Amino acid sequence: MQIKQEMGNTRNEKKDCMKMRIGGEWADPAGGASIEVTNPATGEHIDRVPSGDHRDVDAAVAAAESAFSSWAYRSYGERGMILGSCARLLRERIPALAPLLTGEQGKPLVEATGELMGLAHVLEYYHSISGTVHGEYRNLRLYGDAIVTHTPLGVVGAIIPWNMPALLMGWKVGPALLAGNTMVLKPASSTPLTNLSIAALFEEAGLPPGVLNIVTGSGKEVGEPLVLHPAVRKVSFTGQVETGKRIAELAARGFTRTTLELGGCDPMIVCDDADIGEAVEGVVRGRFYNCGQVCTAVKRLYVFEDVAERFQKLLAARLAGLRVGNGMDQGVDMGPLNNAEQHRTITALIEGVRERGEGTIVTGGAVPQGERFIRGNFYAPTLITDVAADSPLLREEVFGPVLPMVIVEGLDDALAQANASRYGLGASVWTHDMRRITSACEQLQAGIVWVNQHLRIPPEVPFGGVKESGIGRENGYGSIDDYSNLKSILIALGKGRP
Ligand code: NDP
Repeated sequence: MQIKQEMGNTRNEKKDCMKMRIGGEWADPAGGASIEVTNPATGEHIDRVPSGDHRDVDAAVAAAESAFSSWAYRSYGERGMILGSCARLLRERIPALAPLLTGEQGKPLVEATGELMGLAHVLEYYHSISGTVHGEYRNLRLYGDAIVTHTPLGVVGAIIPWNMPALLMGWKVGPALLAGNTMVLKPASSTPLTNLSIAALFEEAGLPPGVLNIVTGSGKEVGEPLVLHPAVRKVSFTGQVETGKRIAELAARGFTRTTLELGGCDPMIVCDDADIGEAVEGVVRGRFYNCGQVCTAVKRLYVFEDVAERFQKLLAARLAGLRVGNGMDQGVDMGPLNNAEQHRTITALIEGVRERGEGTIVTGGAVPQGERFIRGNFYAPTLITDVAADSPLLREEVFGPVLPMVIVEGLDDALAQANASRYGLGASVWTHDMRRITSACEQLQAGIVWVNQHLRIPPEVPFGGVKESGIGRENGYGSIDDYSNLKSILIALGKGRP
């Protein structure tokens, strides 16, 4: 693989293990343990990374602290230029990076390419706004002249999951670095290779050493010490609700700021006036992209009864035609689940649904047939109807290619069922009726609502959840405030002024 050759000098020859990235160097871990990275399509070990611990976190935070003052001193324009250069170099290297991402994550090459282009776009967005970030001046007659300045927080910790490792890295790195912070990022243990490679590429593009550091290792041994580190001023986390709660508890001990982007159980509502063909394509992409492992994937489908039969027939035929396989192969629509644990979870969930009679499996519901599916974490695209109202399919976030479809009487029924969830990340409504669009947009309890589309999350607009889907927002102009201290300065000059 080309990227492996380019990254050849990153390996510890003795252990043949990719290293951590600390202070602009490939660093050995303080301890000796390592984590195997496995190809989810074949079960083959593709690499190893160090299994770090609190000593590596300390070293990375120290590197980030020593890089901080000169990075913070630079102007937004200078920092934005560097992010722009990172994006340019990244776009050149996508052909080499996409196979690495597919190899460790499992997604088809076309999706890996799209994700890396998404990361480049995020960096370009922060580059594009870098000339517009400035403080605020107001003349307040009663109080004097008021100036509001942005100052960086210091060292920021980032913890990311395995489903979109490149894009989610960008959502954190882009605004944090533009705002003048330095960072320590912990990748997911099953997908660290792309993150390590991107960090090195950023430095090649001009990011000073120590501004972005990567420590690999488990949530317990690396994630928790990072959250608890007294020099870490903010933690930006993306992952499961339960992990988010643990991080919130730990961060509260030091009053460390957090942004928590957590799970979702997104509803999609298809009204009887929707373009059914478009809605079918929308749910195929919305649920089965990335093998269903997206926080904002369509996890519950509500279809008006008048069109339900036609919709179900078209959808089932479309799912039966999806080509499941190794993401490296041409023409594959859906790769494997990322890891064996996720595969066991999905398999057990569907077995439970079958045993308890909680729904009718229309298509899928098993590992696809064939020898090439035996060693990977493959699962067939699955459509389930007649779903029991209390089934985990409708109550919990299912992170895989499984779609429960529910027939509803009308919009009020759909909205009531859609909102009956502890989650509130995304939601979509498919209709061309303005009254229905207005009602749905007003009433859906979600951080993002789509009309006649689902899943797209541009960096230009704020993104985040309500209820248990998280706290805070990423993306959008406001993310600069979230990575800054806003300082208000009130100046009284001369006689007669306050
Ligand atoms: P996890 O919460 O299990 O892990 C996410 C990250 O947290 C990993 O790096 C993990 O490390 C680390 N971690 C685990 N335990 C701890 C801990 N105690 N302290 C600190 N860090 C810890 O999530 P998954 O990796 O399973 O990712 C899937 C989840 O992410 C889904 O729920 C999905 O909805 C959510 N997600 C949310 C998004 C959003 O923007 N709202 C976007 C994408 C995904 P390790 O890998 O070593 O276990």
